[in-house]
Amino acid sequence: MNNMKYTVAVIGVGVIGGMIGRELTRYGIKTVMLEKGNDVALGASKANSGIVHGGYDPEPGTLKAKLNASGVEKLFNTALELNVPIKRNESFVCAFSEEEKEHLDVLYKRGHENGITALEIIDGDKARELEKNLSESVVAALWVKNAGIVCPYELTVASVGNAMDNGASLVTDFEVTSISKNGDAFEITSKDGRTVYADYVINSAGAYSGKIASLVGDDSIEIIPRAGEYLLLDKSEGERVSRTIFQVPTKEGKGILVSPTVDGNLLTGPTAAVVASPANKETTADGMNKVNTLALKSVPTVNFRNVITSFTGVRSSNKDGDFIIGESAACPQFINVAAIDSPGLTCCVSIAEYVIDILKGIGLTLEKSASFNGKRNDPHFFRKMNDDEKNEFIKANPAYGRIVCRCEGISEGEMRYAVRTNPPARDLDGVKRRTRAGMGRCQGGFCSPTVMKLIAEERGIGKEQVTKNGGGSYIVTEKL
Ligand SMILES: Cc1cc2nc3c(=O)[nH]c(=O)nc-3n(C[C@H](O)[C@H](O)[C@H](O)COP(=O)(O)OP(=O)(O)OC[C@H]3O[C@@H](n4cnc5c(N)ncnc54)[C@H](O)[C@@H]3O)c2cc1C
Repeated sequence: MNNMKYTVAVIGVGVIGGMIGRELTRYGIKTVMLEKGNDVALGASKANSGIVHGGYDPEPGTLKAKLNASGVEKLFNTALELNVPIKRNESFVCAFSEEEKEHLDVLYKRGHENGITALEIIDGDKARELEKNLSESVVAALWVKNAGIVCPYELTVASVGNAMDNGASLVTDFEVTSISKNGDAFEITSKDGRTVYADYVINSAGAYSGKIASLVGDDSIEIIPRAGEYLLLDKSEGERVSRTIFQVPTKEGKGILVSPTVDGNLLTGPTAAVVASPANKETTADGMNKVNTLALKSVPTVNFRNVITSFTGVRSSNKDGDFIIGESAACPQFINVAAIDSPGLTCCVSIAEYVIDILKGIGLTLEKSASFNGKRNDPHFFRKMNDDEKNEFIKANPAYGRIVCRCEGISEGEMRYAVRTNPPARDLDGVKRRTRAGMGRCQGGFCSPTVMKLIAEERGIGKEQVTKNGGGSYIVTEKL
Protein backbone atom coordinates (compact mmCIF):
# COMPACT_ATOMS: atom_id res chain seq x y z
CA MET A 1 0.00 0.00 0.00
CA ASN A 2 3.04 2.31 0.21
CA ASN A 3 2.83 5.42 -1.98
CA MET A 4 -0.88 5.08 -2.66
CA LYS A 5 -2.39 8.44 -3.66
CA TYR A 6 -5.92 9.39 -2.59
CA THR A 7 -8.02 12.51 -2.89
CA VAL A 8 -9.09 12.38 0.76
CA ALA A 9 -7.57 10.57 3.74
CA VAL A 10 -9.75 10.20 6.82
CA ILE A 11 -7.72 9.68 10.00
CA GLY A 12 -9.61 7.79 12.73
CA VAL A 13 -12.47 5.42 11.96
CA GLY A 14 -15.16 5.78 14.57
CA VAL A 15 -18.71 6.66 13.64
CA ILE A 16 -17.61 10.12 12.49
CA GLY A 17 -14.77 8.94 10.22
CA GLY A 18 -17.00 6.12 8.94
CA MET A 19 -19.89 8.42 8.04
CA ILE A 20 -17.54 10.93 6.41
CA GLY A 21 -15.94 8.11 4.40
CA ARG A 22 -19.37 6.94 3.28
CA GLU A 23 -20.46 10.45 2.34
CA LEU A 24 -17.29 10.96 0.26
CA THR A 25 -18.03 7.83 -1.78
CA ARG A 26 -21.45 9.30 -2.59
CA TYR A 27 -19.42 11.71 -4.75
CA GLY A 28 -17.04 9.05 -6.10
CA ILE A 29 -14.10 10.59 -4.21
CA LYS A 30 -11.03 8.37 -3.95
CA THR A 31 -10.98 7.91 -0.18
CA VAL A 32 -8.84 6.07 2.32
CA MET A 33 -9.83 5.59 5.95
CA LEU A 34 -6.83 5.14 8.27
CA GLU A 35 -7.33 3.53 11.66
CA LYS A 36 -4.74 2.79 14.33
CA GLY A 37 -6.70 -0.12 15.79
CA ASN A 38 -7.15 -3.51 14.14
CA ASP A 39 -10.85 -2.75 13.62
CA VAL A 40 -13.24 0.18 13.38
CA ALA A 41 -15.36 1.53 16.28
CA LEU A 42 -12.75 1.05 18.97
CA GLY A 43 -12.95 4.52 20.54
CA ALA A 44 -15.95 6.45 21.89
CA SER A 45 -18.08 4.92 19.11
CA LYS A 46 -17.83 1.56 20.83
CA ALA A 47 -18.71 2.60 24.37
CA ASN A 48 -21.47 5.17 24.69
CA SER A 49 -25.16 5.36 25.58
CA GLY A 50 -26.43 4.85 22.04
CA ILE A 51 -29.08 7.53 22.44
CA VAL A 52 -30.43 9.56 19.55
CA HIS A 53 -30.71 12.81 21.48
CA GLY A 54 -33.74 14.96 20.71
CA GLY A 55 -31.82 18.26 20.55
CA TYR A 56 -33.11 20.14 23.64
CA ASP A 57 -29.75 20.08 25.42
CA PRO A 58 -27.15 22.00 23.34
CA GLU A 59 -26.89 25.78 23.81
CA PRO A 60 -28.79 27.55 21.00
CA GLY A 61 -26.49 29.03 18.36
CA THR A 62 -23.79 26.42 18.78
CA LEU A 63 -22.68 24.00 16.10
CA LYS A 64 -23.89 21.21 18.39
CA ALA A 65 -27.40 22.66 18.48
CA LYS A 66 -27.53 23.09 14.71
CA LEU A 67 -26.16 19.64 13.86
CA ASN A 68 -28.26 17.92 16.55
CA ALA A 69 -31.46 19.50 15.25
CA SER A 70 -30.78 18.47 11.66
CA GLY A 71 -29.09 15.21 12.65
CA VAL A 72 -31.90 13.26 14.29
CA GLU A 73 -33.98 12.52 11.19
CA LYS A 74 -30.88 12.14 9.01
CA LEU A 75 -29.65 9.46 11.39
CA PHE A 76 -32.98 7.62 11.42
CA ASN A 77 -33.06 7.60 7.61
CA THR A 78 -29.42 6.53 7.26
CA ALA A 79 -29.72 3.74 9.83
CA LEU A 80 -32.70 2.36 7.93
CA GLU A 81 -30.75 2.52 4.65
CA LEU A 82 -27.83 0.71 6.26
CA ASN A 83 -30.05 -1.88 7.96
CA VAL A 84 -28.85 -0.85 11.43
CA PRO A 85 -31.37 -1.36 14.24
CA ILE A 86 -32.74 1.97 15.44
CA LYS A 87 -35.85 2.66 17.46
CA ARG A 88 -37.77 5.84 18.30
CA ASN A 89 -38.37 4.89 21.93
CA GLU A 90 -38.65 8.54 23.15
CA SER A 91 -37.09 9.80 26.37
CA PHE A 92 -38.01 11.41 29.69
CA VAL A 93 -35.89 13.95 31.52
CA CYS A 94 -37.06 13.59 35.12
CA ALA A 95 -37.24 16.30 37.77
CA PHE A 96 -37.23 15.26 41.42
CA SER A 97 -37.89 18.68 43.01
CA GLU A 98 -39.59 21.99 42.26
CA GLU A 99 -36.19 23.49 41.54
CA GLU A 100 -35.41 20.78 38.99
CA LYS A 101 -38.86 21.24 37.51
CA GLU A 102 -37.91 24.83 36.66
CA HIS A 103 -34.95 23.44 34.79
CA LEU A 104 -37.30 21.41 32.61
CA ASP A 105 -38.81 24.72 31.44
CA VAL A 106 -35.32 25.88 30.50
CA LEU A 107 -34.74 22.70 28.48
CA TYR A 108 -38.15 22.98 26.85
CA LYS A 109 -37.47 26.59 25.78
CA ARG A 110 -33.97 25.70 24.66
CA GLY A 111 -35.37 22.84 22.58
CA HIS A 112 -37.82 25.17 20.86
CA GLU A 113 -35.03 27.68 20.16
CA ASN A 114 -33.11 24.82 18.56
CA GLY A 115 -36.14 24.02 16.40
CA ILE A 116 -37.26 20.93 18.35
CA THR A 117 -41.01 20.92 18.89
CA ALA A 118 -41.61 17.24 19.78
CA LEU A 119 -41.44 18.16 23.49
CA GLU A 120 -43.99 18.19 26.28
CA ILE A 121 -43.72 18.74 30.03
CA ILE A 122 -45.84 16.30 32.00
CA ASP A 123 -46.43 15.78 35.72
CA GLY A 124 -45.11 12.81 37.70
CA ASP A 125 -48.40 10.89 37.59
CA LYS A 126 -48.67 11.13 33.84
CA ALA A 127 -45.02 10.07 33.54
CA ARG A 128 -45.72 7.01 35.75
CA GLU A 129 -48.80 6.21 33.70
CA LEU A 130 -46.53 5.93 30.67
CA GLU A 131 -43.60 4.29 32.53
CA LYS A 132 -45.00 2.15 35.33
CA ASN A 133 -41.60 1.51 36.97
CA LEU A 134 -40.68 5.16 37.29
CA SER A 135 -39.93 6.37 40.83
CA GLU A 136 -42.70 7.90 42.96
CA SER A 137 -40.26 10.76 43.61
CA VAL A 138 -40.43 12.02 40.01
CA VAL A 139 -42.48 15.23 40.15
CA ALA A 140 -42.38 16.11 36.44
CA ALA A 141 -40.70 15.07 33.20
CA LEU A 142 -39.76 16.54 29.86
CA TRP A 143 -41.15 14.08 27.31
CA VAL A 144 -38.87 14.05 24.26
CA LYS A 145 -40.85 12.42 21.48
CA ASN A 146 -38.29 12.47 18.69
CA ALA A 147 -35.55 10.69 20.70
CA GLY A 148 -34.40 7.15 20.04
CA ILE A 149 -31.83 4.41 20.54
CA VAL A 150 -29.33 2.91 18.11
CA CYS A 151 -26.44 0.48 18.32
CA PRO A 152 -23.36 2.73 17.96
CA TYR A 153 -20.80 0.10 16.90
CA GLU A 154 -23.16 -1.52 14.41
CA LEU A 155 -23.76 1.91 12.92
CA THR A 156 -20.01 2.47 12.62
CA VAL A 157 -19.35 -0.95 11.09
CA ALA A 158 -22.22 -0.43 8.64
CA SER A 159 -21.11 3.04 7.55
CA VAL A 160 -17.53 1.86 6.97
CA GLY A 161 -18.74 -1.29 5.20
CA ASN A 162 -20.98 0.74 2.93
CA ALA A 163 -18.13 3.17 2.18
CA MET A 164 -15.91 0.20 1.28
CA ASP A 165 -18.63 -1.39 -0.87
CA ASN A 166 -18.72 1.94 -2.72
CA GLY A 167 -14.97 1.98 -3.34
CA ALA A 168 -13.32 3.50 -0.25
CA SER A 169 -10.27 1.78 1.23
CA LEU A 170 -9.84 0.95 4.90
CA VAL A 171 -6.36 0.51 6.34
CA THR A 172 -6.28 -0.76 9.91
CA ASP A 173 -3.26 -1.01 12.24
CA PHE A 174 -2.21 2.32 10.71
CA GLU A 175 -1.35 4.63 13.58
CA VAL A 176 -0.63 8.01 12.03
CA THR A 177 2.55 9.41 13.57
CA SER A 178 3.64 12.01 11.04
CA ILE A 179 2.05 14.21 8.39
CA SER A 180 4.02 16.43 6.04
CA LYS A 181 3.35 18.29 2.81
CA ASN A 182 5.05 16.85 -0.26
CA GLY A 183 4.31 19.36 -3.04
CA ASP A 184 0.51 19.66 -3.07
CA ALA A 185 -0.11 16.36 -1.35
CA PHE A 186 -0.05 15.34 2.29
CA GLU A 187 2.35 12.54 3.10
CA ILE A 188 0.85 10.55 5.95
CA THR A 189 3.08 8.02 7.68
CA SER A 190 2.24 5.30 10.15
CA LYS A 191 4.19 4.17 13.19
CA ASP A 192 5.47 1.15 11.23
CA GLY A 193 6.68 3.27 8.31
CA ARG A 194 3.88 2.89 5.76
CA THR A 195 2.92 5.99 3.77
CA VAL A 196 -0.16 7.21 1.93
CA TYR A 197 -0.64 10.45 0.04
CA ALA A 198 -3.77 12.58 -0.10
CA ASP A 199 -4.86 16.02 -1.31
CA TYR A 200 -7.10 16.58 1.70
CA VAL A 201 -6.97 15.22 5.24
CA ILE A 202 -9.90 14.80 7.62
CA ASN A 203 -8.85 14.57 11.26
CA SER A 204 -11.53 12.50 12.99
CA ALA A 205 -9.25 10.82 15.52
CA GLY A 206 -11.60 11.34 18.46
CA ALA A 207 -9.78 11.80 21.75
CA TYR A 208 -6.49 11.95 19.80
CA SER A 209 -7.62 14.63 17.34
CA GLY A 210 -5.57 17.30 19.17
CA LYS A 211 -2.48 15.14 18.78
CA ILE A 212 -3.17 14.59 15.05
CA ALA A 213 -3.75 18.35 14.49
CA SER A 214 -0.42 19.13 16.15
CA LEU A 215 1.31 16.97 13.50
CA VAL A 216 0.56 19.75 10.99
CA GLY A 217 1.49 22.56 13.40
CA ASP A 218 -2.04 23.16 14.66
CA ASP A 219 -1.89 23.30 18.47
CA SER A 220 -5.32 24.88 18.88
CA ILE A 221 -7.17 21.73 19.97
CA GLU A 222 -7.06 20.65 23.57
CA ILE A 223 -9.12 17.55 24.27
CA ILE A 224 -10.21 16.93 27.84
CA PRO A 225 -10.93 13.19 28.14
CA ARG A 226 -13.95 12.50 30.37
CA ALA A 227 -14.69 8.90 31.26
CA GLY A 228 -18.19 7.50 31.64
CA GLU A 229 -18.77 4.16 33.36
CA TYR A 230 -21.72 1.88 32.62
CA LEU A 231 -23.43 -1.24 33.91
CA LEU A 232 -25.20 -3.34 31.29
CA LEU A 233 -27.97 -5.66 32.43
CA ASP A 234 -29.34 -8.91 31.06
CA LYS A 235 -32.33 -9.00 28.73
CA SER A 236 -34.47 -10.09 31.68
CA GLU A 237 -34.28 -6.40 32.75
CA GLY A 238 -34.74 -5.08 29.19
CA GLU A 239 -38.40 -4.13 29.58
CA ARG A 240 -38.02 -2.36 32.93
CA VAL A 241 -38.58 0.88 30.98
CA SER A 242 -39.49 1.46 27.36
CA ARG A 243 -38.25 5.06 27.16
CA THR A 244 -34.78 6.34 28.00
CA ILE A 245 -34.98 7.83 31.48
CA PHE A 246 -32.67 10.79 32.14
CA GLN A 247 -32.37 13.00 35.18
CA VAL A 248 -32.08 16.79 34.92
CA PRO A 249 -28.61 17.46 33.47
CA THR A 250 -25.87 18.99 35.59
CA LYS A 251 -22.64 20.81 34.74
CA GLU A 252 -21.06 17.38 34.38
CA GLY A 253 -23.38 16.26 31.63
CA LYS A 254 -26.67 14.53 30.99
CA GLY A 255 -26.46 12.45 34.16
CA ILE A 256 -27.17 8.79 34.80
CA LEU A 257 -29.71 7.24 32.46
CA VAL A 258 -31.71 4.03 32.52
CA SER A 259 -32.46 2.89 29.01
CA PRO A 260 -33.42 -0.12 26.99
CA THR A 261 -30.97 -0.91 24.19
CA VAL A 262 -32.01 -1.78 20.64
CA ASP A 263 -30.87 -5.32 21.36
CA GLY A 264 -33.17 -5.73 24.35
CA ASN A 265 -30.79 -5.19 27.30
CA LEU A 266 -31.01 -2.48 29.95
CA LEU A 267 -28.21 0.10 30.09
CA THR A 268 -27.39 2.25 33.14
CA GLY A 269 -24.78 5.01 33.37
CA PRO A 270 -22.64 6.92 32.51
CA THR A 271 -20.63 8.67 35.19
CA ALA A 272 -18.50 11.69 34.19
CA ALA A 273 -14.94 12.08 35.42
CA VAL A 274 -11.99 13.84 33.81
CA VAL A 275 -9.18 11.32 33.31
CA ALA A 276 -5.48 11.76 32.62
CA SER A 277 -5.56 9.89 29.32
CA PRO A 278 -8.19 8.64 26.84
CA ALA A 279 -6.64 5.22 27.41
CA ASN A 280 -8.05 5.20 30.99
CA LYS A 281 -10.95 2.86 30.41
CA GLU A 282 -11.05 0.98 33.68
CA THR A 283 -14.24 0.67 35.69
CA THR A 284 -14.12 1.59 39.37
CA ALA A 285 -16.02 0.60 42.50
CA ASP A 286 -16.95 4.28 43.02
CA GLY A 287 -18.25 4.59 39.50
CA MET A 288 -20.29 1.41 39.73
CA ASN A 289 -21.80 2.51 43.05
CA LYS A 290 -22.73 5.87 41.61
CA VAL A 291 -24.41 4.30 38.57
CA ASN A 292 -26.27 1.85 40.78
CA THR A 293 -27.50 4.49 43.27
CA LEU A 294 -28.55 7.09 40.72
CA ALA A 295 -30.23 4.61 38.39
CA LEU A 296 -32.31 3.35 41.31
CA LYS A 297 -33.31 6.94 42.06
CA SER A 298 -35.11 7.01 38.68
CA VAL A 299 -36.23 3.39 38.46
CA PRO A 300 -36.16 1.75 41.93
CA THR A 301 -37.04 -1.74 40.67
CA VAL A 302 -33.95 -2.26 38.48
CA ASN A 303 -32.42 -5.53 39.65
CA PHE A 304 -28.66 -5.01 39.67
CA ARG A 305 -28.11 -8.73 40.35
CA ASN A 306 -28.67 -9.04 36.59
CA VAL A 307 -25.64 -7.00 35.53
CA ILE A 308 -23.79 -8.91 32.80
CA THR A 309 -20.91 -6.53 32.14
CA SER A 310 -19.46 -3.12 32.90
CA PHE A 311 -17.52 -0.83 30.60
CA THR A 312 -16.16 2.69 30.24
CA GLY A 313 -16.28 5.10 27.31
CA VAL A 314 -14.18 8.26 27.07
CA ARG A 315 -15.68 11.51 25.81
CA SER A 316 -13.57 13.96 23.76
CA SER A 317 -14.61 17.16 25.47
CA ASN A 318 -13.04 20.60 25.22
CA LYS A 319 -13.22 23.85 27.21
CA ASP A 320 -15.70 25.63 24.91
CA GLY A 321 -18.12 22.73 24.97
CA ASP A 322 -18.80 22.88 21.23
CA PHE A 323 -17.71 20.69 18.32
CA ILE A 324 -14.63 21.91 16.42
CA ILE A 325 -15.26 21.34 12.73
CA GLY A 326 -13.44 23.30 10.04
CA GLU A 327 -10.32 23.80 7.98
CA SER A 328 -7.29 24.24 10.21
CA ALA A 329 -6.05 27.83 10.38
CA ALA A 330 -2.51 26.43 10.49
CA CYS A 331 -2.79 24.09 7.53
CA PRO A 332 -4.93 24.49 4.40
CA GLN A 333 -6.83 21.41 3.18
CA PHE A 334 -6.58 19.82 6.62
CA ILE A 335 -10.04 19.59 8.22
CA ASN A 336 -10.44 19.11 11.95
CA VAL A 337 -13.52 17.22 13.13
CA ALA A 338 -12.63 17.31 16.80
CA ALA A 339 -14.14 17.51 20.28
CA ILE A 340 -17.03 15.40 19.08
CA ASP A 341 -18.46 14.46 22.44
CA SER A 342 -22.17 13.90 23.02
CA PRO A 343 -24.36 14.20 20.96
CA GLY A 344 -21.79 13.24 18.33
CA LEU A 345 -23.41 9.90 17.59
CA THR A 346 -26.75 11.59 16.92
CA CYS A 347 -25.00 14.12 14.70
CA CYS A 348 -22.80 11.69 12.72
CA VAL A 349 -24.69 12.09 9.44
CA SER A 350 -25.18 15.85 9.77
CA ILE A 351 -21.48 16.20 10.64
CA ALA A 352 -20.49 14.17 7.56
CA GLU A 353 -22.64 16.39 5.34
CA TYR A 354 -21.22 19.50 7.00
CA VAL A 355 -17.70 18.28 6.20
CA ILE A 356 -18.70 17.74 2.56
CA ASP A 357 -19.85 21.38 2.43
CA ILE A 358 -16.51 22.51 3.88
CA LEU A 359 -14.63 20.51 1.24
CA LYS A 360 -16.79 22.05 -1.49
CA GLY A 361 -16.11 25.49 -0.02
CA ILE A 362 -12.35 25.04 -0.24
CA GLY A 363 -12.30 23.89 -3.82
CA LEU A 364 -12.89 20.12 -3.99
CA THR A 365 -15.15 19.39 -6.94
CA LEU A 366 -17.96 17.14 -5.80
CA GLU A 367 -20.53 15.64 -8.13
CA LYS A 368 -22.84 12.83 -7.11
CA SER A 369 -21.73 9.46 -8.41
CA ALA A 370 -24.34 7.50 -10.36
CA SER A 371 -22.95 4.21 -9.08
CA PHE A 372 -23.21 5.02 -5.35
CA ASN A 373 -25.45 2.56 -3.50
CA GLY A 374 -26.29 3.77 0.01
CA LYS A 375 -28.02 0.53 0.99
CA ARG A 376 -26.33 -2.23 2.92
CA ASN A 377 -27.37 -5.86 3.14
CA ASP A 378 -28.84 -6.77 6.49
CA PRO A 379 -26.20 -8.78 8.39
CA HIS A 380 -28.98 -10.08 10.63
CA PHE A 381 -31.13 -11.33 7.76
CA PHE A 382 -31.05 -14.92 9.03
CA ARG A 383 -32.39 -14.29 12.51
CA LYS A 384 -35.23 -12.25 11.04
CA MET A 385 -36.48 -15.18 8.92
CA ASN A 386 -39.39 -17.34 10.04
CA ASP A 387 -38.77 -21.04 10.71
CA ASP A 388 -39.79 -22.17 7.21
CA GLU A 389 -37.51 -19.63 5.59
CA LYS A 390 -34.68 -20.64 7.93
CA ASN A 391 -35.11 -24.33 7.07
CA GLU A 392 -34.96 -23.56 3.36
CA PHE A 393 -31.88 -21.42 3.87
CA ILE A 394 -30.14 -24.04 6.03
CA LYS A 395 -30.61 -26.64 3.29
CA ALA A 396 -28.50 -24.49 0.99
CA ASN A 397 -26.05 -23.40 3.69
CA PRO A 398 -25.88 -25.80 6.66
CA ALA A 399 -23.56 -23.46 8.61
CA TYR A 400 -26.66 -21.41 9.45
CA GLY A 401 -28.13 -24.45 11.16
CA ARG A 402 -25.32 -24.72 13.68
CA ILE A 403 -25.99 -22.40 16.63
CA VAL A 404 -22.69 -21.41 18.22
CA CYS A 405 -23.65 -18.61 20.64
CA ARG A 406 -26.46 -20.11 22.70
CA CYS A 407 -27.25 -16.97 24.72
CA GLU A 408 -27.98 -14.84 21.66
CA GLY A 409 -28.80 -17.68 19.25
CA ILE A 410 -26.11 -16.83 16.70
CA SER A 411 -25.18 -19.40 14.06
CA GLU A 412 -21.87 -20.36 12.51
CA GLY A 413 -23.11 -18.97 9.19
CA GLU A 414 -23.60 -15.48 10.64
CA MET A 415 -20.12 -15.56 12.16
CA ARG A 416 -18.45 -16.63 8.92
CA TYR A 417 -20.40 -13.89 7.12
CA ALA A 418 -18.99 -11.32 9.60
CA VAL A 419 -15.43 -12.33 8.75
CA ARG A 420 -16.11 -12.13 5.00
CA THR A 421 -18.11 -8.88 4.81
CA ASN A 422 -16.75 -5.31 4.71
CA PRO A 423 -15.20 -4.32 7.07
CA PRO A 424 -14.14 -7.87 7.91
CA ALA A 425 -14.08 -8.98 11.56
CA ARG A 426 -10.61 -10.15 12.46
CA ASP A 427 -10.85 -11.14 16.09
CA LEU A 428 -13.27 -12.37 18.74
CA ASP A 429 -14.51 -8.91 19.68
CA GLY A 430 -14.91 -8.01 16.00
CA VAL A 431 -17.26 -10.98 15.51
CA LYS A 432 -19.01 -10.03 18.75
CA ARG A 433 -19.68 -6.45 17.65
CA ARG A 434 -21.03 -7.59 14.28
CA THR A 435 -23.10 -10.61 15.29
CA ARG A 436 -23.66 -10.27 19.08
CA ALA A 437 -21.94 -13.63 19.68
CA GLY A 438 -20.57 -13.29 23.21
CA MET A 439 -22.81 -10.34 24.14
CA GLY A 440 -25.23 -12.48 26.13
CA ARG A 441 -25.51 -13.66 29.67
CA CYS A 442 -22.38 -15.87 29.58
CA GLN A 443 -20.33 -13.14 27.85
CA GLY A 444 -18.66 -15.60 25.49
CA GLY A 445 -17.81 -18.21 28.13
CA PHE A 446 -19.27 -21.03 26.02
CA CYS A 447 -18.86 -19.97 22.40
CA SER A 448 -15.40 -18.35 22.35
CA PRO A 449 -13.44 -21.55 21.45
CA THR A 450 -15.69 -22.21 18.45
CA VAL A 451 -15.65 -18.58 17.34
CA MET A 452 -11.87 -18.69 17.54
CA LYS A 453 -11.79 -21.82 15.36
CA LEU A 454 -14.09 -20.20 12.76
CA ILE A 455 -11.97 -17.04 12.59
CA ALA A 456 -8.83 -19.16 12.14
CA GLU A 457 -10.47 -21.16 9.31
CA GLU A 458 -11.86 -18.09 7.56
CA ARG A 459 -8.60 -16.16 7.78
CA GLY A 460 -6.36 -19.15 7.03
CA ILE A 461 -4.35 -18.69 10.24
CA GLY A 462 -3.59 -20.87 13.23
CA LYS A 463 -5.80 -20.66 16.32
CA GLU A 464 -2.82 -19.40 18.30
CA GLN A 465 -2.76 -16.34 16.00
CA VAL A 466 -6.37 -15.39 16.76
CA THR A 467 -6.70 -12.54 19.25
CA LYS A 468 -9.51 -11.30 21.45
CA ASN A 469 -9.04 -7.67 20.44
CA GLY A 470 -5.82 -7.27 18.45
CA GLY A 471 -2.30 -6.56 19.67
CA GLY A 472 -1.00 -9.29 21.92
CA SER A 473 -4.40 -10.45 23.19
CA TYR A 474 -3.84 -14.03 22.04
CA ILE A 475 -6.17 -16.59 23.56
CA VAL A 476 -4.17 -19.81 23.21
CA THR A 477 -0.44 -20.29 22.78
CA GLU A 478 0.09 -23.89 21.62
CA LYS A 479 -1.44 -27.36 21.58
CA LEU A 480 -0.66 -29.38 24.70
C1 LIG B 1 -19.68 7.87 27.77
C2 LIG B 1 -20.19 8.43 26.47
C3 LIG B 1 -21.56 8.51 26.22
C4 LIG B 1 -22.03 9.04 25.04
N1 LIG B 1 -23.36 8.97 24.75
C5 LIG B 1 -23.82 9.44 23.58
C6 LIG B 1 -25.19 9.31 23.23
O1 LIG B 1 -25.97 8.69 23.93
N2 LIG B 1 -25.61 9.89 22.08
C7 LIG B 1 -24.78 10.58 21.27
O2 LIG B 1 -25.26 11.14 20.29
N3 LIG B 1 -23.46 10.65 21.53
C8 LIG B 1 -22.96 10.09 22.65
N4 LIG B 1 -21.63 10.13 22.93
C9 LIG B 1 -20.74 10.76 21.96
C10 LIG B 1 -20.35 9.81 20.83
O3 LIG B 1 -20.02 8.54 21.34
C11 LIG B 1 -19.16 10.41 20.10
O4 LIG B 1 -19.49 11.71 19.69
C12 LIG B 1 -18.75 9.63 18.87
O5 LIG B 1 -18.64 8.26 19.13
C13 LIG B 1 -17.41 10.18 18.39
O6 LIG B 1 -16.98 9.42 17.32
P1 LIG B 1 -15.56 9.69 16.69
O7 LIG B 1 -15.53 8.90 15.44
O8 LIG B 1 -15.30 11.15 16.61
O9 LIG B 1 -14.52 9.16 17.77
P2 LIG B 1 -14.02 7.68 18.10
O10 LIG B 1 -15.12 6.72 18.04
O11 LIG B 1 -13.27 7.79 19.36
O12 LIG B 1 -13.05 7.33 16.91
C14 LIG B 1 -11.77 7.89 16.77
C15 LIG B 1 -10.88 6.87 16.11
O13 LIG B 1 -9.61 7.45 15.83
C16 LIG B 1 -8.65 6.45 15.98
N5 LIG B 1 -7.33 7.07 16.13
C17 LIG B 1 -6.87 7.76 17.19
N6 LIG B 1 -5.59 8.14 16.97
C18 LIG B 1 -5.25 7.69 15.74
C19 LIG B 1 -4.06 7.75 14.97
N7 LIG B 1 -2.95 8.35 15.42
N8 LIG B 1 -4.04 7.17 13.75
C20 LIG B 1 -5.15 6.53 13.27
N9 LIG B 1 -6.30 6.43 13.98
C21 LIG B 1 -6.36 7.01 15.19
C22 LIG B 1 -9.10 5.71 17.23
O14 LIG B 1 -8.52 4.42 17.31
C23 LIG B 1 -10.61 5.67 17.02
O15 LIG B 1 -11.03 4.49 16.36
C24 LIG B 1 -21.12 9.56 24.09
C25 LIG B 1 -19.75 9.45 24.32
C26 LIG B 1 -19.28 8.84 25.48
C27 LIG B 1 -17.83 8.60 25.64
